[in-house]
Amino acid sequence: KKSSLSEVKVAVIGAPGVGKTALSVRFLTKRYIGEYDHQSEGRYKHEVLIDNEPILYEILDTCPKSAADLPSLEIVHWADGLLFVYSITNRESFTYLKRIGSLISDSDIPIYIVANKCDMVHLREVSTEEGAILARDFECGFSEVTAAEQFLQLYFQLRFIETTNETER
Ligand code: GDP
Repeated sequence: KKSSLSEVKVAVIGAPGVGKTALSVRFLTKRYIGEYDHQSEGRYKHEVLIDNEPILYEILDTCPKSAADLPSLEIVHWADGLLFVYSITNRESFTYLKRIGSLISDSDIPIYIVANKCDMVHLREVSTEEGAILARDFECGFSEVTAAEQFLQLYFQLRFIETTNETER
């Protein structure tokens, strides 16, 4: 059973090192912290006021062991929305998301793709265009971002989830 509008579960999914924890910490604390111990999955709760209505976010920061370690179906079933993350400086992290396509192909779960580390354009391996094409395939939103330099609350708010829930009511 999916949660109601006032509670939103978001799983943050992507290859190791793309910045999932950096983005999650940004969302939770508005800060960018360069390094932290990140050997295990993290779960966080965070309340955000949207249009004066408190929404409780439950964030699951997944922690794949390698680029071959895809998220479990259990995670997809748990979540109300998926925040897909790759790094523009790492092509393998982009193909990681492509491979997840099959995992979610018969689910209509809302997704948003963020292409992180856009402050490192000099090391770019994935073009903006490719990201936009992937988002078209997944029928989801897409933005290039940087956890290092931006406040990223919007992407976690996953506005499309609210829209989805509203049309269901
Ligand atoms: P995770 O394994 O996906 O959770 O990735 P982390 O959040 O641990 O980040 C991996 C590394 O990338 C760390 O050294 C971060 O400091 C760095 N990093 C994360 N986001 C950014 C970003 O937007 N720009 C830059 N330049 N580095 C970042």
